[in-house]
Amino acid sequence: MKTSIIGYPRVGALRELKFETEKYFRKEITEEQLEITAREIRKKQWLTLKDSGLDFIPSNDFSFYDNLLDTAVLFNIIPERYVNMGLTPLETYFAMARGYQGGKGDVKALAMKKWFNTNYHYMVPEIEDSTEIRLAGSKPLEEFSEAKALGVKTKPVIIGIFTLLKLSRFTGERKADDFADSLIAAYSSLIEQLGKIGARWVQLDEPYLVHDLDEKDIALFEYLYSRILSSKGDVKILLQTYFGDVRDIYSRLIGMDFDGVGLDFIEGRKALSLVKEQGFPSEKLLFAGVVNGKNIWRNNYGKTLSLLRELSEYNVVISTSCSLLHVPYTLKNESLLSEKYTRHFAFAEEKLGELADLKLLADITSYEDEETFKENKSLFAEERADSSDSAVQKRVSQIKEEDFIRLPAFEEREAVQKSSLNLPLFPTTTIGSFPQTADVKANRRAWKNGDTSEEEHKQFNREKIRECVALQEKIGLDVLVHGEYERNDMVEYFGEQLKGFLFTEKAWVQSYGTRCVKPPIIWGDVSRERAMTVEWSVYTQSLTEKPMKGMLTGPVTILNWSFPREDISIRESTYQIALAIRDEVLDLESNGIRIIQVDEAALREKLPLRKSDWYSEYLDWAIPAFRLVHSGVKPETQIHTHMCYSEFTDIIPAIDDMDADIITFEASRSDLLILDSLKENNFKTKVGPGVYDIHSPRVPSVEEIKAAVREMLKKVGREKLWINPDCGLKTRGETETVKSLNNLVQAAREIRAESERGIGQ
Ligand code: GLN
Ligand code: ZN
Repeated sequence: MKTSIIGYPRVGALRELKFETEKYFRKEITEEQLEITAREIRKKQWLTLKDSGLDFIPSNDFSFYDNLLDTAVLFNIIPERYVNMGLTPLETYFAMARGYQGGKGDVKALAMKKWFNTNYHYMVPEIEDSTEIRLAGSKPLEEFSEAKALGVKTKPVIIGIFTLLKLSRFTGERKADDFADSLIAAYSSLIEQLGKIGARWVQLDEPYLVHDLDEKDIALFEYLYSRILSSKGDVKILLQTYFGDVRDIYSRLIGMDFDGVGLDFIEGRKALSLVKEQGFPSEKLLFAGVVNGKNIWRNNYGKTLSLLRELSEYNVVISTSCSLLHVPYTLKNESLLSEKYTRHFAFAEEKLGELADLKLLADITSYEDEETFKENKSLFAEERADSSDSAVQKRVSQIKEEDFIRLPAFEEREAVQKSSLNLPLFPTTTIGSFPQTADVKANRRAWKNGDTSEEEHKQFNREKIRECVALQEKIGLDVLVHGEYERNDMVEYFGEQLKGFLFTEKAWVQSYGTRCVKPPIIWGDVSRERAMTVEWSVYTQSLTEKPMKGMLTGPVTILNWSFPREDISIRESTYQIALAIRDEVLDLESNGIRIIQVDEAALREKLPLRKSDWYSEYLDWAIPAFRLVHSGVKPETQIHTHMCYSEFTDIIPAIDDMDADIITFEASRSDLLILDSLKENNFKTKVGPGVYDIHSPRVPSVEEIKAAVREMLKKVGREKLWINPDCGLKTRGETETVKSLNNLVQAAREIRAESERGIGQ
């Protein structure tokens, strides 16, 4: 059997590309210098892949920012506002990625969206009526030649025509169908040119096929590919899918003239049954995604080899489930984690080793006798060190239906809280963090490096909190926060204190452009060993008469921004985390904290791509997990939650079902569309739709905030509305924050007065 991967990480094992690109942004290096780093990264990748024995080596999976943006530019999908600015091609590319402000003009970036069910984000191509689609670039050709010159024969990887059209925004009258023919011609000519310079295989990625598809989608797909395939000549086309199965189109796909089809056997629940029941043509290659491209655990060879045996009547190529872009580079740079942990992990480079092992083992009849197999088997046979905690397992197994239900019901609590908290109409608050100024970061770093004592660190934070409380009182906010100065990241902060998590040093994964994240690993059963936030909250509350929000991260977000376990379900892991956070909630309450916010910024992250699976696969346990966190509090304790980074309009009933008392969310950039949806769904939870965008240093005026609130009041009852910014303020500067919050409070006061006079109701 042969082996293949779909794509490889590209920011560099030590994030070299990120740092060089940022230098380029700051004009410290030239385009040519940046290009040198890019070439080095590509060279290293190809040589690593070649040395590993991989048969199908990708090229054109490199990107300076994003592959979909590369594809758009390749086909001249460049909105007019970026053309004729006098920018170089690379400057134009980066202007589309991140906006441009300078001597040559002022343009905003393209919109950015989540790439399917990952934490990677792509730039949304914009197709205008005037867009002239044609093959305008040569990146795939150049990279193919570059690899060839190094003695590496590659398979160029290009995002497919269907996915490109489905993910693009059409800004004018003309829609996907109107651009189909010119785009078909452009893809065909690219494939032809790749063939001319020696490419034998071209991989076209069509992850969009794993969604629920309707007849129109299927017809479009067939139209596009019947034409592209009829002109492919000698070039072999691999249709690559990932992030799920292609149940809606499988029977048609296998009848089309593809030379290979890539299926995901990890996330594609129905992949195996589709192949078994409907067969697979003997003249085509079946690229079987059996090594998980999204998680960091070792592959279970026993399971994989029996899966491959089930496919033995077909021409199988062993592959990854998706691009390795979604896992870190290599374990080689992890010097702090002991071997008892790391031998259970495989990052991108180690997965290449797994593919090589599987390739050898798959061809041996009695692979059970091989050392590599036995060693792998033992990893799964043994109990992983420090991972199991029977008390936690028992507690989860004893969760009862009533543990998911908070009593009394919402309306009754609402009345109790109204009199106990005695807040004004349109209460004002913030989302939690205050500006993380240089001194705050320096303090945390010094403490982590052991340069300052625990007590010095705490003293510094207490001083910061004292200033923060004084500032909020001076501004006149109604519900205060402590500012989150002790926290680096909303997940890492809790992960570090919970038992069951592991942290890496260099295991970065690209989130978008030059931004990378370093997700913690859920290693074992999760529990809380001691109170995590109570001391800070109690201290803060002691400084003020006003209510102060305790601030926690919710279980779904903690799980979604970590690498989850594979030996138990994510549902079970989430329940474990939920119980730990529940204990913290109850501790805060018994220590006099009357309002507790549980952030679920990433609630939507693992929502299945198929709508038909939303409830049965995800929301049916994710929403209860949140309720488990707060169902034990007294009626007078007010529970807030906060959400951002994604659209929620389509899951509004599920959000209401979280049964929080208040929800604040990001709204200022989505034209308040979400409010219509709240109204339609008769949303009961009180709401604080953000009245200004905290991602920008711009200070909103009082009038502007009032206008936003008046709009909100058209859709939300006045008893239900809170006034707050979009999200935490940690990335903002101090001066703009004070000005913005002053305006926010002033706007709330004026709106209250208007409302009391009977205007604006
Ligand atoms: N409470 C967090 C903060 O204010 C919420 C962050 C988030 O939603 N991403 O920083
Ligand atoms: Zn937020």
